[in-house]
Amino acid sequence: MRPCMYSGGMSIVIAGARVFTGDRVLPEADVLVENGLVREVGTALRGAERVDGRGRTLLPGLIDAHGHVFTTTELRHTLGFGVTTVLDMLGNPGQVAELRAAAASDPGIADLRSAGTGATVPGGYPWFLVDMGYLTPFPTITEPDEAPGFIADRVREGSDHIKILLEDGTTTGQALPALSVDTAAALVDSAHQHGKLAVAHALTVETTHAALSAGVDVLAHVYLDRTDAELPYRIAERGTPVIPTLVAVQGLFGRPKARQLLDDPRVEPYLDDTSRYLLNADPVPLGPAARHDLDGATQTVAELREAGATILAGSDTSNLFVAHGASLHVELELLVAAGLSPLEALTSATSAPADCFGLGDRGRIAPGLRADLLLVEGDPTKAIGATLDIVAVWRGGRRAQRNSGGTLGSTSSGGPLSLHSIASDPV
Ligand SMILES: [Zn+2]
Repeated sequence: MRPCMYSGGMSIVIAGARVFTGDRVLPEADVLVENGLVREVGTALRGAERVDGRGRTLLPGLIDAHGHVFTTTELRHTLGFGVTTVLDMLGNPGQVAELRAAAASDPGIADLRSAGTGATVPGGYPWFLVDMGYLTPFPTITEPDEAPGFIADRVREGSDHIKILLEDGTTTGQALPALSVDTAAALVDSAHQHGKLAVAHALTVETTHAALSAGVDVLAHVYLDRTDAELPYRIAERGTPVIPTLVAVQGLFGRPKARQLLDDPRVEPYLDDTSRYLLNADPVPLGPAARHDLDGATQTVAELREAGATILAGSDTSNLFVAHGASLHVELELLVAAGLSPLEALTSATSAPADCFGLGDRGRIAPGLRADLLLVEGDPTKAIGATLDIVAVWRGGRRAQRNSGGTLGSTSSGGPLSLHSIASDPV
C-alpha cells in the first residue's frame, strides 16, 4: 500500500500499550508508525519519536458509521475526539465534495465518505429541510423506472454509498408520503450495478421489513415503534448490518444525553460551537400520534446481538443533543448498556464498519494499514467509558490537535446548522 500523501515524516513508536487491533487484544505491544502507515506491531521496536503507552490502550481510529457533517470545523473537532472517519448519510453534494477534498489533503480533520443526496419522493422525508433552508433543493424519485437515472446522477455527484429514505412519519405522528418497495428495490438494483452499497433509513418494523424486501445492504437506524420477535433474526440471516443511532433517537424522543457531555471536562472544552448549540437546544414537540419506544429500541439492539446481527456504531451527528465526535463515545456506552460487551462495542466502531463499507485501509491496527490511531488512558476493553480519556489521536500518522471552541457552522440560508431543530425524526 502506498504511503499516505501527508504522512508524518518522523517514525513514531507507541510503546508498551495494550493494543486492540480491531479483532483482538494484545496485552502489551509496541506499534511502529512510518510514512503514515502502521509498519510493525511487536516488541522492542524503535522509532524517532517514542510515546509512552504504559497503562494505556491503543485503539484503531474510530469510525462513525452514521453522521451528517457540514463544515471542516466539525470534522476537525470530530477528529479531536478520536473519530478519524465519518460516514455521512445525507448532505448537500456540493458541500460534501468540498469537505471530501479538504479531508483528502488535511490530516488535521476527520476523513469523510458520503451518500450526498438521499432518495425520497416529492414532499417526502426530509424535504422539510429544504423548506427550512437547511438543505439545497434536491432531485426526488417516484417510479421504479426513474431509478437508473437517479442513481447514475448520484454516482456522478460523487456519492460513496446510496441513502434510501423509507419514512412514513409513524414515530413522530406526522403522516408523510414515502417511497414504494418497488421503487426502493429498483434503487438498490441500480446502486449495486454501480458497485455502491444501499443504506436505508427505516424507523419502524414495517418500513424495516420493506427495506429488507427491497434488498438494502445496511440499516441506518434501529426500528423504534415497537419490538418484534422475528425481525432481528430476519436481519441477521440476511447479514444486514444495523446502525442503531441510540444516542440520536434517545435525544429526539425525550432522553437527551446532552448534560453528561456538557458536564464532562474531557469533552466540554473540545466541543465545536455547532455541537454546543445542539446540546443546549430545546426539545422538539412531537405529533399527538407519535409512536416510539426507547426501551424497545434498546431491547431490539440486545435481540439483534443475540440473533448474531452485525452492529455498527453511529451517532447521527447534526441531530439535536448530538455532538460531533463526542457522541460516538456515548453511543458506545449505550450499546454496552444494551448488552454488547466493551470489545463488541469497540469492534462496532472500528473493524466492523471498515469491513462493511469496504474501507480496507483502516479500522484495524496492522502492518500496511493507515496509522489512524486513538490512545487512551486505562482499559476501554473492560470499561467502555475510558474511550473518552483521550491521550492522543493520529490520522495518517499525523498527531491531531485537540481544539477548543470553533465557529458555528452555517447553512445555505445562513442559519445555525441543526438538521432537526424543526422536525423530530433522525435522517
Ligand atoms: Zn442521519
